Amino acid sequence: MQENKNRKYKKTGAVKPANKKKTGAVKPENKKPVNKKPANNKSTTKSVDKKPTNRSPRNNACPYQKKCGGCDYIGIPYGKQLQMKQERIEKLLLPITRQSRVKVQPIVGADHPEYYRNKVHSVFAGAKGNRILRGIYEKNSHRVVDIKGCKLEDRTADAIIEEIRNLMPSFRMKPYDEDHGVGFLRHVLVRVASSGIMVVLVTGEVTFPGKNNFVKALRKKFSEIETIVQNINNKQTSMVLGERNIILYGKGFVVDDRLGLSFRISPSAFFQINTEQTVKLYDLALQEAGLTGKETVLDAYCGTGTIGMFMASHAKQVVGVELNREATRDAYNNAKANRVKNIRFVNQDATEYLEYLASLRRESRRNVNRHEASGEKDVITSFDVLCMDPPRTGSTPRFIKAVAALQIPKVVYISCGPDTLARDLMVFTKLGYKVDRITPVDMFPQTGHVETVVLLSRKAD
Ligand code: SAH
Repeated sequence: MQENKNRKYKKTGAVKPANKKKTGAVKPENKKPVNKKPANNKSTTKSVDKKPTNRSPRNNACPYQKKCGGCDYIGIPYGKQLQMKQERIEKLLLPITRQSRVKVQPIVGADHPEYYRNKVHSVFAGAKGNRILRGIYEKNSHRVVDIKGCKLEDRTADAIIEEIRNLMPSFRMKPYDEDHGVGFLRHVLVRVASSGIMVVLVTGEVTFPGKNNFVKALRKKFSEIETIVQNINNKQTSMVLGERNIILYGKGFVVDDRLGLSFRISPSAFFQINTEQTVKLYDLALQEAGLTGKETVLDAYCGTGTIGMFMASHAKQVVGVELNREATRDAYNNAKANRVKNIRFVNQDATEYLEYLASLRRESRRNVNRHEASGEKDVITSFDVLCMDPPRTGSTPRFIKAVAALQIPKVVYISCGPDTLARDLMVFTKLGYKVDRITPVDMFPQTGHVETVVLLSRKAD
């Protein structure tokens, strides 16, 4: 079955993802579902890998800390935060570093450990005395915590949301009432890109009286606003965004080019949350891949294809594999918009796809002419570098077995889940790989999250 599906991918050029049914996989949203309301009163937002153990008495670094719970490290000096993350990785990966005789490299810290989130979301709700609340859902509940001036979020974005709250009464805009399904403004989403700022007003109704004056008033205060979109969400849902967008001002998207390529960011498009650290992460991954322009690269769990596209100009060709259909489509469109021609994308489960490639390779060994006979010669089964960036749950032993069967000589593993990384690296080492370098990267200062880039190579047979 798979063979037919994959056969239609052309040898060159970005390839359209197969029109597959929605897989239900989560969008690569910073690998944590920040734009969702917790279902069943269980908080799924901003989960933290591990609590810091040596908490000093918190110096009221954030007044919302208790209720929000998003920033587990806030109040700890940044240098200390980095040290804690470094030690955590060293401890977790000790069996690996001992075995491979490598030391964990110093963590790549952030130059700006505060106000780094380029995507800011605020939920709106009414309170006693016609007060308007805007902020986040309280930990483990659906109650809205009023938040102004979060230490993680872009400051202009925050000021825009505050101004929206201030403007609401004079425009008779009511916050949405979730329990009764009435009211107007449900959420505001602000996305800060290099071209400018996008404001998305998520409303429960289509009718927006006085919208032109509202847009004018907001723009008057914030000239950085490049586009304003009204998104209609009148469903009882935990998703922030509904399906319909009405452009109120501008083009309906912003563009970011800080990664050396330009990415169009529409209201629901994925884009890395911390642009500054993403540049460092991708640079590091690229450096570890050691590309010379001749290599064939496999970008597994590729999301919207950013890493693969980043690598494509240094490689002969890149194949990206991604489970989420929308992300694959965005990847395809991003490649097309950037005229990256030596990349193609496959919309499939990464394990299934690699096993498929490994089986093709086995077959071709058995019968060298089979590929030609069956028209499978377009499928690439030989890779020089694998770059893998799985979700926090990590990869699978079957995936890693297929990597070994494909004899991919070099692997760059980007991980946002240290525990699953430790588990997966064990499998790699059992299957003939050796760990050459481990470098933690702090993508999310003030939180317990830590990203790690690991370079592995296949031991000679
Ligand atoms: N490398 C990407 C994002 C990686 S996030 C970037 O930097 O933009 C992890 C990605 O893995 C998500 O896009 C998610 O949809 C995808 N994913 C999750 N499970 C998968 C699977 N079994 N096979 C392929 N992709 C998967």
